[in-house]
Amino acid sequence: MSNKTLAILKPDCVRKNLIGKVISHIQDSGFKVRAMKMVKLTPDAAKGFYEVHKERPFFNDLITYMTSGPCVPIALEKENAVEDFRKLIGTTDPKKADEGTIRKLYAENIQENIVHGSDSDENAAKEINHFFSRKEILEINGW
Ligand code: ADP
Ligand code: MG
Repeated sequence: MSNKTLAILKPDCVRKNLIGKVISHIQDSGFKVRAMKMVKLTPDAAKGFYEVHKERPFFNDLITYMTSGPCVPIALEKENAVEDFRKLIGTTDPKKADEGTIRKLYAENIQENIVHGSDSDENAAKEINHFFSRKEILEINGW
């Protein structure tokens, strides 16, 4: 079980001025913010990040969406971080998400779904390294 995960507040979250609300929700659920920045992904960076989906029909739209404005990657720490964060954000499609989840509360549709969460401990480590140098990470236990 890992204690870290990567969240990204996606471009729709930033555009809708929801950064503060979503971070409050995350912190109120017991996650510690260990690194955070605002970046605009280049198409190559977005393609690299979502490489696993490159054969999917929604891939090009996903890249357009993720490069449509700045986003906010955040390295988070909590016990059982990956699983607990996926529970907190809800299913990919906000229509199917449980009440009270971040996607249910704020997301528009299956593409514009406000927030990313790593899906495994291995990917969490990779994704955090993708966005942050060691210097930028404020102490994650067991890092
Ligand atoms: P999750 O973000 O819940 O891990 P996936 O890894 O399956 O979901 O997909 C990555 C992102 O691609 C989703 O968060 C969403 O923005 C987009 N996406 C996924 N499925 C679809 C779909 N059927 N149509 C449009 N966009 C999609
Ligand atoms: Mg995923």
